[in-house]
Amino acid sequence: MFSNSITYTPDISGLSALGRGKIGLVFVHLMPSKLTTHWQSLGKNEQLELQGRKLHRYLRDCVLPFSPHYQKIFAEHGLTAHDIRSVSDLTKIPYTRKDDLLSAPDAPRKALDFLLKPDPAVLAKRPGVILRSLLQGRARERDRLDREWRPIFMTSTTGRSTEPVAFLYTQHDIKNLGIGSGRVADLGGRNPEDRMLNMFPFAPHLAFWYMYYAGIQNNIFALATGGGKVMGTEGNLRAIQKIRPTALAAMPTFIYHVLTQAVEEKLQLPGIRAILLGGEKVAEGTRRKLADLCAQVGSPGVQVVATYGFTEAKLAWSECPFTPGHKPPGYHLYPDMGIMEVIDPENGTVQPEGRGGEIVWTPLEARGTVVLRYRTGDFIENGITYEPCECCGRRMPRLMGKISRVSDFRSMRFQKVKGTVIDFNELEHVLDDVRGVGSWQIELRKANDDPLEIDEIVLHLSRTGDSTEAGLTTAISHLLQAHFEIRPNRIHFHAEEAMRELQKVGVLIKEQKLVDNRPAAQAAPYQPRSMPTDQKLQTTRP
Ligand SMILES: [Zn+2]
Repeated sequence: MFSNSITYTPDISGLSALGRGKIGLVFVHLMPSKLTTHWQSLGKNEQLELQGRKLHRYLRDCVLPFSPHYQKIFAEHGLTAHDIRSVSDLTKIPYTRKDDLLSAPDAPRKALDFLLKPDPAVLAKRPGVILRSLLQGRARERDRLDREWRPIFMTSTTGRSTEPVAFLYTQHDIKNLGIGSGRVADLGGRNPEDRMLNMFPFAPHLAFWYMYYAGIQNNIFALATGGGKVMGTEGNLRAIQKIRPTALAAMPTFIYHVLTQAVEEKLQLPGIRAILLGGEKVAEGTRRKLADLCAQVGSPGVQVVATYGFTEAKLAWSECPFTPGHKPPGYHLYPDMGIMEVIDPENGTVQPEGRGGEIVWTPLEARGTVVLRYRTGDFIENGITYEPCECCGRRMPRLMGKISRVSDFRSMRFQKVKGTVIDFNELEHVLDDVRGVGSWQIELRKANDDPLEIDEIVLHLSRTGDSTEAGLTTAISHLLQAHFEIRPNRIHFHAEEAMRELQKVGVLIKEQKLVDNRPAAQAAPYQPRSMPTDQKLQTTRP
């Protein structure tokens, strides 16, 4: 797969060739940069300038000497690291897409082309390596290089419609996971007494391991339950009662079911201060529901914090805590660890500050697997802002507004149902925000299960509070008609327990909120106005 036995022998003989000025420069390079020490307090211009310089050094010293893929791409475009000296120079580098990492018959291990494979002979001649060898000994420097460059860990993409792609980490990347998650804890006001219950599923996925290293590297007591598939909702509830965590980390749908069950069982779970969500988008309605449920089990005033991350970044970012009901303060990015661009997904041009578009990622610290200008397929509603955060006052780039994650739902995102193209990301946000709806599932069917018949939408849901079936049916029908020009053919109301079964809580790693039960999963051929709004809407309770 990759060499497990790189032997680095620092070439001390090269030192005599260095002048005194160069040694001074080496010391400067060994110090953490201002971008790292002041990541949350620099103004936009200074931030961009320092990022541009770091980008140049990163390409020159880490990526281009050792990345087979980018050596080829840069050569094809007649580029070298000297051509990239500012953030705006990034536009010279072509985008990397998900497909670029997928294996093909002629390239069976494509993702490995993106792995940095350092040449020991090149490293041994570097002034920093030579100097550290002199100061700290060759053996120690050899070990440091090994930890920086040799992959020892991986997570992978979930890959619903394509094969999963592995992203390899070195110790250097794992240290950055800890730094990133430590910043999440700092934004939330960390406390040595914090105890965390990590309810993300055991899997080689970023969300679980980010929270795992958040506990280990930030010295916080944490228990990982493995989520629903390992311990069920019941087992997770027992763990909360035993550990009495101050923070719960989980996917939104799963933690909703855990807390709902706690309310059903009339349990008291005092002391929860924060819920950290990841792995799925978080609608405003979801925050409200989770905070309400916590209040019902004896933990009022809970902060519900969403995180956004993706495999390819080997990082995740969070909001700072804010009072539910206010405008979310956006995801606080780390300018020293990578550059986010927001682009027009149609023509690929970079959007100005504050304009929505597709999120594009370039790392500045990664080793192991590295992608440059990676098109995430995720859409951020209001783009990036560099203004100081209204909530915490920190200055760093922030991603503002809703994120629609195409990657999870690629084949489902724009689905033709009843001849109308529906954006399911938007549909999910709308359903999550309806007051009185607990959990829900959209089921796509064919009328009479006949592949030639028209598509049907069946909505399964549970009620909360004092909402009525008739009231919800009318409200949802009007809402979907207004937003999407569709109406569900049927709405089935269920108890929460039945919803847990429908969503396969405790069975699947990720709960099912959208199920396509159409034979052969084919959408109906396009028929203009094929969706009669006077179609009879049935409401049933099975
Ligand atoms: Zn903030």
